Amino acid sequence: MKRLMLLGASGSIGTQTIDVVLQHPQDFVLVGISVGHRIDVLKQILSKVQVKYVCVAEKQDRQVLEAQYPDITFYDGDEGLLALAKKDEYDLLVNALVGFVGFLPTLHAIESGHSIALANKETLVVGGELIKKAIQKHHVSLYPIDSEHSAIFQALQGNKNYQIKRLIITASGGSFRKLSRDDLKDVTVSQALAHPNWTMGAKITIDSADMMNKGFEVIEAHYLFDIDYDDIDVVMHPESVVHSMVEYVDHSIIAQLGAPDMRVPIQYALTWPDRYPLHLEKPLDLTQLSGLHFDKPDTDRFPLLALAYKAGKKGGNLPAVMNAANEVANAAFREEKIPFLMIEDIVISAVNSVGYQPIETVQDLIDANEYGRKFALQQIEGVNE
Ligand code: MG
Repeated sequence: MKRLMLLGASGSIGTQTIDVVLQHPQDFVLVGISVGHRIDVLKQILSKVQVKYVCVAEKQDRQVLEAQYPDITFYDGDEGLLALAKKDEYDLLVNALVGFVGFLPTLHAIESGHSIALANKETLVVGGELIKKAIQKHHVSLYPIDSEHSAIFQALQGNKNYQIKRLIITASGGSFRKLSRDDLKDVTVSQALAHPNWTMGAKITIDSADMMNKGFEVIEAHYLFDIDYDDIDVVMHPESVVHSMVEYVDHSIIAQLGAPDMRVPIQYALTWPDRYPLHLEKPLDLTQLSGLHFDKPDTDRFPLLALAYKAGKKGGNLPAVMNAANEVANAAFREEKIPFLMIEDIVISAVNSVGYQPIETVQDLIDANEYGRKFALQQIEGVNE
């Protein structure tokens, strides 16, 4: 029986993780969960699973819930997330939080000896160096939930890292893959949120539309698999059937294919090195495919992909500044405060505005995050004055 702590339970990855857990009640048990403000979703979850600990964002919500669920111990806020991460009565932390908020709980879970199943890619984008050091020091494991990285992890089984020639990360191109830069000027939030292949949370769907997400995934792959940026390629693959590939030194390419269903990578992160049966409504039927296409990405069209390579290679504070500016700009676009293309402008100018600083402590990271957020907020205020 594997005991899980699930942070971000009400989001897309969180609810699918619970589905995987419910498919295997004899193998997994949820010890605790966190949600933000979606108390209605929390109540649905609590009608299906029994947990010992719950963390919510707001103190008021915690107080109301404490009266309604006397058998559960409640926490609130960022401190509550850390309290859950530090508990010793679980085996694996599933981090499905969105954004920089996911970093500290990951670090604290590692430091208290827990392995991590990571969907919160921002953890590695902003703090990859610190996380890597902590993992080595505490002898724990980090299992990817991101579909591309799960594909690479699966393609690596039975092989050695020194045999890798390059990683090939596939990219669908998101909601606007058929549009020119000119067309992108007037796109709306609802158009951006309509991803052709994947159903995901709002923030990552926007990150997919401008390919910031793919840039993050390059940095994530660099830290997960210890591969140079020059040996990580992105290939456009609009069908989202091949989830990513590894090319070996003998030029053999091993790929992982499947339906675009996150429960597959979630479950693999929970069961590795084993595989369990999984019920999917629509598993991949190869005979129904009309073709698979692969193409080079156009970095003029998607400048945030090029920016992520640049920030990743330089390292230090730059990825954290890039991520923070993107979190603010992404949210501002969703709130219709800025046009779509301004996300790129803000993120690029944030990175260009800051000098390189090494990240040696958590405080360095918090400072870089603050800088990126403030820079982006100022730009947005400028537009809305
Ligand atoms: Mg992905």
